[in-house]
Amino acid sequence: MKRSDTQNEIIIMITQEAIQNNVGISKATPYSEFSDRIKVKNIPFLGRLHIVRDREGYMALSFTTLYWIYGTFVNLFIILLPHYNDKQLPGELVLWFVFLSVMCIISLFKASTTNPGRVPLVEDSQIDINHWEVCKTCRQKRPKRAHHCRRCNQCVLRMDHHCPWINNCVGEENHWAFTLLLIYAFLLGLTGFVIDMLHFWWWPKCVTCDKESFFIKHQIWFVYLVTALGAAMGALMGGQVIVQHTNILLNQTTLETMGLNQSMGSHSHDS
Ligand SMILES: [Zn+2]
Ligand SMILES: [Zn+2]
Repeated sequence: MKRSDTQNEIIIMITQEAIQNNVGISKATPYSEFSDRIKVKNIPFLGRLHIVRDREGYMALSFTTLYWIYGTFVNLFIILLPHYNDKQLPGELVLWFVFLSVMCIISLFKASTTNPGRVPLVEDSQIDINHWEVCKTCRQKRPKRAHHCRRCNQCVLRMDHHCPWINNCVGEENHWAFTLLLIYAFLLGLTGFVIDMLHFWWWPKCVTCDKESFFIKHQIWFVYLVTALGAAMGALMGGQVIVQHTNILLNQTTLETMGLNQSMGSHSHDS
């Protein structure tokens, strides 16, 4: 069957749009056009992923992910579900914990794979750059509150800080995901800690669970560790939630609060 001219035109338009937006049909760009430290991958359904190539960052991010896997596994399979099967706690508590755990891993994924906000190439845009400055490291023009990140090897718009635990910069475009991650991690740590306390002091020993299984037999050690991790996570994240919200209210970034902006001449993150 022969295609009509209109059909052909529509196909050409869709293809051009896809190439421009760098999705679907077009070939993935292997690296960001701004930095050889940034790998860019187009994944179906997940979109354009931004990955910082940094060995220490990979290790720290793996630690964060393992922390999440361990906490979710112990609290859900060793504590919550056995007590739920014995009808000692409401299903809503299990659902609340699962909801927090899922939201936590989604916001971790978004915060670590979203482009934090690269400075657009001036030649490509119609932006008024009269008040822009030149970065001393990469020689690129950038707006006032952008900073050069040495880990990412690029300037980032309204850079907050580089967070190794998510292996990404926190900047204008992913600050929302980072803040959500802090809130969910805080709630997850706190909920986990409360569940562990109830497990120790309130709920009776499980009846219907398989007492010979490895995890139930040695549960005390798993639960001790998860309690300590939950308490540490709750306290650390709670502090961070307060710090980040204070910064948002004061319209300041972490770097600016620490006096690491350009006018103060620091060289730790920017130049
Ligand atoms: Zn720069
Ligand atoms: Zn960075």
